[in-house]
Amino acid sequence: MHYDLIIKNGNIAAVQETFNADIAVKDGKIALTGNINTGDTADEIFDASALHILPGIIDAHVHFRDPGLTEKEDFETGSIAAAFGGITMTADMPNTKPVTSTEKDFVEKIFLAKEKSYIDFALFALLTNENIDEMEKLKKAGAFGFKVFFGSSTGDIACPSHAVLIQQLKTAASLDMRTGFHCETNDINANFTEIARKETDSPDGFWLDYARPVMSEAQAVLNVMRCSLQTKAKIHIHHLTSCESIFITEEAKEKGLNVTTETCPHYLFLNNEVTHKVYPPIRDNSHRTELWDALINGKISMIASDHAPHTAAEKTLPLWEMPAGLCGVETLVPLFLDQVNKGNISLNGFVRLASESPAKTWNVYPQKGSLLAGADADFTLVDMKKKHTIDAAKLHSKSRTSPFDGMELQGAVSSTIVRGKFIMREGELTGCKGYGILISPEH
Ligand SMILES: [Zn+2]
Repeated sequence: MHYDLIIKNGNIAAVQETFNADIAVKDGKIALTGNINTGDTADEIFDASALHILPGIIDAHVHFRDPGLTEKEDFETGSIAAAFGGITMTADMPNTKPVTSTEKDFVEKIFLAKEKSYIDFALFALLTNENIDEMEKLKKAGAFGFKVFFGSSTGDIACPSHAVLIQQLKTAASLDMRTGFHCETNDINANFTEIARKETDSPDGFWLDYARPVMSEAQAVLNVMRCSLQTKAKIHIHHLTSCESIFITEEAKEKGLNVTTETCPHYLFLNNEVTHKVYPPIRDNSHRTELWDALINGKISMIASDHAPHTAAEKTLPLWEMPAGLCGVETLVPLFLDQVNKGNISLNGFVRLASESPAKTWNVYPQKGSLLAGADADFTLVDMKKKHTIDAAKLHSKSRTSPFDGMELQGAVSSTIVRGKFIMREGELTGCKGYGILISPEH
């Protein structure tokens, strides 16, 4: 048999176990995982004996700021940063300019992402007070899921009224589409921010946390769960930060609601003793510890970066005026590889949280997030022994900033393969602009 690519002798980290085997790729798909027959040939045979091979890591929450905010990032720079970070597919948020809330704007965004992206991409569609009639069309156009800003963030996008939201969730349920929520409560944020601003002109991590407190998130999560109970809609909670919210989502799951949850590296690796502005804010160590426990015991479904770049100039503004959001698409995988080396999570557990689970949550499994024959041949090749230091100046995002700058890690991304093609190979960009395709849920 002749294949396009054979990856030989890799340590393959699947969700259940790690094993030594070869992988054969044909026409961008996995043809076989196991032992290649003697006599089998390929255009290229890649020796991976020093590496671990993970199913392609998915970052299901990025803001590539394209269209309209491309001074911060675009699909080209964002996808290059992703490829260097071992990410084979991203899902982009709809708070761009214009927002992605109509079929017309959604289709235009597909074209521009298709032109620029080095890796595969999915696109969320925004729910607004006006676009219930667009929902079916957005699904047909290929939307990954719907997104609601329940509480304002970048772009100051208003949440639909409760009346509209309940109708939209009924529609989402009938379309079998999941809706993801940014959970904060505007009046709580306004009130606590006012108190915090009276206290200090230059807030540190404690005051940023105080200004948008845990109860702001938890109240919104509770509210969203109630809406789900009434509508039977599938719900996803983005960037969950607190043990209160985990308690509420667990209670909802016990009642039979279809709820998935996500948290991000900045809530797991940092605490409010450092000053990094992001919404919702970074909490204290008690929440951080609970988030780790919830990750390991399955109460949190997945990890995503919430990569949300701003320009260097914006990041030097006084903290109350500075826009919220941190870069993370390129640092997610190495941060977790280091935790694997430290014994805090298994490599298989990481694969579940960052490959299989996002693919299942957003209904693109087993095309993505799987090592089964017939799945897209997406792989993240990693060197678990390599030591390195995160250097923000060397990252590939337009915004060369990182809250993890200077962290010393063991475990590095070696190469990134999307549908059988090396996009990043041993530190060199080998893919091309426009290679990425839109990935849509199976229905
Ligand atoms: Zn976000």
